[in-house]
Amino acid sequence: MNLAERFLKYVTFDTQSNDTTRITPSTAGQMVFAEYLKTELESLGLEDITLDEHAYLFATLPANTDKDIPVIGFIAHLDTSPDMTGENVSPHIVSNYDGKDIILCAEENIVLSPSQFPELLNHIGEDLIVTDGKTLLGADDKAGIAEIVSAVEYLKAHPEIKHGKIRIAFNPDEEIGEGAHRFDVEKFGCQWAYTIDGGEAGELEYENFNAASAKITFKGRNVHPGYAKGKMINSMLAANRFVAMLPSNETPEHTEDYEGFYHLADMAGGVEESTLTYIIRDHHLDKFKARKQEMDRLIGVINAEFGERTAALELRDQYYNMREKIESVMHVIDIARTAMEAVGVVPNVKPIRGGTDGAQLSFKGLPCPNIFTGGLNFHGRYEFIPVQSMEKAMCVIVKIVKLLNQ
Ligand SMILES: [Zn+2]
Repeated sequence: MNLAERFLKYVTFDTQSNDTTRITPSTAGQMVFAEYLKTELESLGLEDITLDEHAYLFATLPANTDKDIPVIGFIAHLDTSPDMTGENVSPHIVSNYDGKDIILCAEENIVLSPSQFPELLNHIGEDLIVTDGKTLLGADDKAGIAEIVSAVEYLKAHPEIKHGKIRIAFNPDEEIGEGAHRFDVEKFGCQWAYTIDGGEAGELEYENFNAASAKITFKGRNVHPGYAKGKMINSMLAANRFVAMLPSNETPEHTEDYEGFYHLADMAGGVEESTLTYIIRDHHLDKFKARKQEMDRLIGVINAEFGERTAALELRDQYYNMREKIESVMHVIDIARTAMEAVGVVPNVKPIRGGTDGAQLSFKGLPCPNIFTGGLNFHGRYEFIPVQSMEKAMCVIVKIVKLLNQ
């Protein structure tokens, strides 16, 4: 099976995750897919293949040299986004793309157009795998799995390429933020690893947000409005005052690159009690801490103005920027960069404005930057992937393995 065929087989499995089931894997389809992959890895002759009850599938490509080479891993996730159905994915291949509109679904007039998605024009002449407009494609992250499996198959078929021990892992529930939680880093046993879960060819990521959530409860005092003078405390007005004191330009819609923000995600209330839910994001740890302190300071302002114990803040850290864990092992990034350049891919290092499984794994002791799959427009019906980009990702994996033996 070649790489594209392998990918097209994988997308037939419905592995959409679900953040309401509170179990791992969150959906049964992920285990069905993991079992299929386990059989495939067995037939490829990999070793130490384990699939646990939570759908974590690990395997080993043993070293074929006695040389002392670091054990590294490649990781991809089984699930697809809860944002769009992944049932009955029915892809087709647009061969030798001509730069024009691609009709995904004629009867519903769903068109993948370079006027909306100009990045299509970077792939003229390539073979694009697209959806029928009714589902997502699932290149996130079945392309990553196909690229890893094809890379180890290639290495198996080319014993003249000497390499150390390679570990691979496929995990469930990345899309609902649970992929790293039950990942047994010790059992995986690698010095470092790469998730193959990025977008456009060239993407290489080792920085993500530091993240916290903040819930603020405002207590009021309700009194008949006709007789309220000097007595009523309206918790909604206290909440409103709090919102107004935060910088209005430090919000998701006003920030990009390395700019952090406060995002008001939810507000609810009445006179007696109101709540605000924020998420706080910043790449810089010191600025991240300063944002949390600023919230605390503003609580003090509210309480001075509306009365002691009007406002109470609950802060909870969610995840941290993996850069902190990668900076001491920058050769991990350098090797990936060199591998890309060697196979003709221009590395594009950029900060993630979100989190990744790799960030959590990095803090669990497994440094884990992210490499491209080649797919674009993830999580929706306009998702597509050029076959040529998948081949590049596979070549990058093989090249990293080769570079380690030098
Ligand atoms: Zn993904």
